[in-house]
Formats: sequence, structure tokens, C-alpha cells
Amino acid sequence: MMDEITSISVSKLSSLLAKKEISAVEAANAYLEKIQSLNSEIGAYISITAETALKQASEVDRLRAAGEKLSPLAGIPAGIKDNICTKGIPTTCASRMLENFKPPYNAFVVDLLEGQHAVILGKLNMDEFAMGSSNETSYFGPVKNPRDTSRVPGGSSGGSAAAVAAGLAAFALGSDTSGSIRQPAAFCGVVGLKPTYGTVSRRGLVALASSLDQIGPLTKDVKDCAMVMESIAVQDKWDATSVCHPNPEFTKGIENGVQGLKIALPKEFFAAVSDEVKNAVLAAAKQYEKLGAKVEEVSIPHLKAAHSACFVISAAEASSNLGKFDGIKFGYRAQNCSSVDDIYKLSRSQGFGKEVKRRILLGTMFLSTGYYEKYYSKSLQIRTLICNDFKNIFERYDLILTPTTPTTAYKLGEKQGDSLDIFMGDICTSSVNMAGLPALSLPCGADSQGLPVGMQLIGKAFDEQLLFRAAYAYEQNANIGQRKD
Ligand code: GLN
Repeated sequence: MMDEITSISVSKLSSLLAKKEISAVEAANAYLEKIQSLNSEIGAYISITAETALKQASEVDRLRAAGEKLSPLAGIPAGIKDNICTKGIPTTCASRMLENFKPPYNAFVVDLLEGQHAVILGKLNMDEFAMGSSNETSYFGPVKNPRDTSRVPGGSSGGSAAAVAAGLAAFALGSDTSGSIRQPAAFCGVVGLKPTYGTVSRRGLVALASSLDQIGPLTKDVKDCAMVMESIAVQDKWDATSVCHPNPEFTKGIENGVQGLKIALPKEFFAAVSDEVKNAVLAAAKQYEKLGAKVEEVSIPHLKAAHSACFVISAAEASSNLGKFDGIKFGYRAQNCSSVDDIYKLSRSQGFGKEVKRRILLGTMFLSTGYYEKYYSKSLQIRTLICNDFKNIFERYDLILTPTTPTTAYKLGEKQGDSLDIFMGDICTSSVNMAGLPALSLPCGADSQGLPVGMQLIGKAFDEQLLFRAAYAYEQNANIGQRKD
């Protein structure tokens, strides 16, 4: 029974809970038992909040017994990436710097989930401060890919993707600055959405690069992803970049198919990936044609430049955002300091890992006199060019289909220390953050070693509904052994 509960989708579990065929406490226990038995191997959770989870679950059962009308997420066990603040529960960003940080408030999304009585199982491992693509930069050790534990789960939301893939959470929240939801979703064979910028509040998300960051769901299937989005796409008056989404009924019309849709395949994305990944995504394109869509090759000339520019902008913003971790106000403070300067220097030297320091140094350089015009201003100009590339395509097409990652999951340790090579893992995803567009990654088969391949659907701003519709059509019709419950 434990396995059964942890492998079913959010939508199915939600209806079982509503019909009282299973209680929220039973569901929470099934997940907690599985976490107990698998987490030491997978490393998906940094903190497990079993006690509060069971309290939340029994409250759901009490409310249901009292005849209250509950939200579809009531009683659904979820995991939260550890850069999203949870009141009184450690929020470490997988860094020594915040190892003992317990936020005094919840992120807006956490308040939303709790308000809808979702059950929070714990906090998920990640690359330190969301910098990385393999989840190997975590201070708490790497996460392993549940599909093959000798491989990385992707990153930076590696814990979120691994938890969903291994049945350690019915769904998870991640964050995506240049691919950190979609890339691990692809490596672990689950669904992940980076929403349109501004759709999900960033209040309480520890910022990496504020102009690129978005929180989004990782789920077992497409419908679940739409369901979770319906619960978290709420305007937040305390986040200046949060907007009121014009089409927030994400599950509406999900079954309407792709007949007559025009899908663009940008050739530059396909040139950046392995043959196996390319072939799997091209097979998916064929499937879309069979389902009645029109598929055509197009060009996105500034893809590579946008990727480099994204690195510059992300590092520049990170260097500023991470300035607050100085050992004075909160976070790690080095011992035995002989001066104020020492406190700053030693706390930051000891509190941050290598990759974080590298980004802070580079970002500070990009913003300094003499380099600002050459790197930072130039990158902002490139940002306009890539926005225009997308705009041109969306004048003629409804959706863009690309691979999510250049390869499938690689071996743990294989790329460690090669920061640039790791960042290249985001070549297919970063331009989407630069343009603020929504994009969804979903499984589209496996490579010759049986490792999942992910494809990415990119939509116009606020066109998540269409992304879900197209992804769902593929998921229901593709014969690649995917879930259909
Ligand atoms: N690979 C990206 C990086 O290392 C991931 C950033 C993100 O999306 N959080 O910065």
C-alpha cells in the first residue's frame, strides 16, 4: 500500500482523499515511511518535518470529517526547495552560511500551500544558493538520481526532482533562474514548469538573480503541474514584480489537444545537444504532427549569446544579493575574529562554498568600473535581442519545442569543478529566463541506457494554459511508458 500511495498522481490522490478512501494521515505516513527508508540513499531532503506534517494531515482529516469544503491540495504531501522560507523551519540554501537559519516568516507560496492545507514533508536539497546544474555543490552532500543512483539528478532543484521521481513527495516546489526546475526535471524523468516571470511571488525565496528567478512546481505528470500552479499563481501585493495572471485556470481546456497549433523547432537548440536527445525530441515533434499540429524549423540567432549574457547577469545580481550574508546580521559567523574586517572576511570565506565565491567574485567584477560596459551593459543589450528573437517567432507560432538539456544525466563527479561545462547544461533553458517566458519540461522517452530525456515547450508570456494543453496531449498519446492515471 505504501508504494501505491506514493506513486499515484496528485489529482488521483486528491480524489481518493475527497472520497475518504484514504485519510490524509495515511497519505502522509506513506510518504514519511518512504522518506525514512530512501532518503539516506537519495539525499533529497535536508530537513524532514514529520511532526508538523502529521499535525497538518490530521487537521485535514478533522476538517473533512466536519464536512468542510477543502481545496484540491488539502492533504497532499509536498516538499519545498530549501531556498524557500519556512517559518521556524531551517532554510539553509544548502549552504554552511545558513545552516542554522530559521526564518521568522513563511514565503508567500508556503502561506498559500498551508492555507490550502497541503502537508509539508520537509525541505529539499539543492545546489548551494541555487548555483549549479548537478546538485553537487550542496554543503549537505549531493543528491542522487533515483533513476540511476550513480548519476546526478540535475540542479539546482535536484532534491525537488529526485523527491518527486522517487515517490518522496507527491509534488515539490523548486526555483528556476536559468534552468534549475526544468533541467533536473529532465534528468529525473518528471514534469517541471518555469512560469512566466511575475506569476508566482518571489517573496521569501532567497534571491539568486532577482530579474530571472521564478518559483515553480515539479510533479509526476502534466495535470498535477497545472493543479499546483492553480494554487500558487496568486498575486502578492508585497512583491513588486508579482502580477495578476490573466488566465489562471491552468487545468481548463487541458484535454483540448493540439489540432491546428503551429509549433516552431529552433535549429540552434538542436545543434547544442547529443544525437540521442535530439532524436527523442524530433520523434516527439513527429508525434505532434500526427496529433494535428503543424511543425516547422525556425531560427533563434541569439541563443548562444543569450546564454553567456545570462551567466553575466545572474552572477552580477547574485554578487549584490549575497552581500547581505556578512556574518553580522544573520548567518554564519566565524569564531576568533580579531577585527570587524576579519568578521566579514572569515565569515564569508568559511560560510560560502567554492562555486558561490566564484560567482560573487565574477559578478563583482562584471559590475565594476571598466568592466561594467564591456560585460554587464552588453548583456542587457543581448537580453533585448533574445526577447526580440522570441517575439518574432511568436508572431507566427503558438509554441516552441526544444530539448531541455544537452545530454541525459551524467555520472556523479564527472563534471565537478568544471563550472563552465556545468553552466553549459543550461544552454536550452537560460534564454527563457532572460525573456521571462513560461516553459515546461516533460519526459519524452529514454536514451540507450534507459535514462530519461526531457523536452521543453516554451510559450508566450502568460500562455501556460496552452503549454499544459500541448504537454498533456503528448503525455496521453506518446507511447513511452508514461503515467496516464
Ligand atoms: N545552472 C544554473 C547556475 O548554475 C542554474 C541557476 C538556476 O536556475 N538556479 O546558475
